[in-house]
Amino acid sequence: MHREMKIGVLGGGQLGAMLIRSAIDFGVEIYILDKDPHAPASHYCTGFVLGDPMSYNDVIDFGTDMDAITIEKEAVDTKALKELQKRGVSIYPSPDTIEIIQNKFIQKKFLQNNNIPVVPAIATWGVADIIANKHRLPACLKLCTQGYDGRGVMIIRDERDALTAFEEPSLLEDLVDIKHELSVIVCRNEKGDIECYDPVMMIVNKERHVLDFQLCPAQINRAISLQAREIAINVAESFNLVGIVAVELFVTANDEVLVNEIAPRPHNSGHHTIEACATSQFEQLLRIIMGLPLGDARHIAASVMINILEPCSDTKSDIKGALRHILCFNGVYVHWYGKHKGKKGRKMGHITITENNIENALSKAANIRHILTNIYERSESRNNNG
Ligand code: ADP
Repeated sequence: MHREMKIGVLGGGQLGAMLIRSAIDFGVEIYILDKDPHAPASHYCTGFVLGDPMSYNDVIDFGTDMDAITIEKEAVDTKALKELQKRGVSIYPSPDTIEIIQNKFIQKKFLQNNNIPVVPAIATWGVADIIANKHRLPACLKLCTQGYDGRGVMIIRDERDALTAFEEPSLLEDLVDIKHELSVIVCRNEKGDIECYDPVMMIVNKERHVLDFQLCPAQINRAISLQAREIAINVAESFNLVGIVAVELFVTANDEVLVNEIAPRPHNSGHHTIEACATSQFEQLLRIIMGLPLGDARHIAASVMINILEPCSDTKSDIKGALRHILCFNGVYVHWYGKHKGKKGRKMGHITITENNIENALSKAANIRHILTNIYERSESRNNNG
């Protein structure tokens, strides 16, 4: 259908690999730029280029030949993308959008200026700044750039905690009394048409600030669900986005809905859309890039998604053994990313569990989480003893 279209992706992680699954259905060619020659998407793409998405020259060399470029992570060189855009390459999302979201403080200012409700915060740089603002404690401190998966986030309860603060540009956010964490993915095309997925509820590990599992549809009342969708659509419109965006939200103890952060690309919180929605987030992005109509974002099954994390470096075979067990359940889909090197806490794969209602999905997920937890614990004790 569109065999002649060459789409370049900056980043070759699992999100890039999942995009390729949809690209096969549409007959488009996907080229990947990544500095890791073993990146998950490198095995499946039409062409792999070894290079750094943060390097101006690497992005220019890679992109010159492409019809369109998209991203699967935000750490990319936006100057190069602006230059490629001038030369006629289409970029999704726009380099201006990427630039705004790369810095958490600039992102927050942009959202505030567009009347999107966010968690109040100030910009700080290190211990002295935080002590000077000790009246704001307890608070949540976040690196402005280069944080991911909970790295670069710390809770500062008092002046003693403040002594361990990042000596880097950061954001000191009010500590939110979180009732729920949600994510809403919005797809928006060139014409301004919108498809919005149902809110996903994320259950986060409180110590490590990483996702434990997520479920969809979120167990929230209709009013909160509508509010979350409306805010997420406003976010997409305020960026004049052409692409997809995951909007992460907090529901506070007082039922306020606030934006935590956004990611204008395929997102972990949309993994379930592959099996549990009429159209996956990856297919939506390709439809937008190719100028095709948006797909139906409605869910066709209730789902739970569990990340498979690497507890320590020697457990890959244990986990693979457990997958045999897990695949005995119906409506369970395993995605193994084939990462070359595992390190503690790294996402090695994920499992999506589908069912006719969320209660059944949760009870099946409890069994599967139990199997995974046993492996994590066995591996931890082996590691401690050996
Ligand atoms: P990352 O980009 O690493 O995912 P997040 O901003 O999403 O960082 O923060 C990670 C987790 O930390 C969130 O999922 C939430 O559980 C917790 N968190 C973040 N901001 C706040 C806050 N202002 N108050 C309380 N907890 C927070």
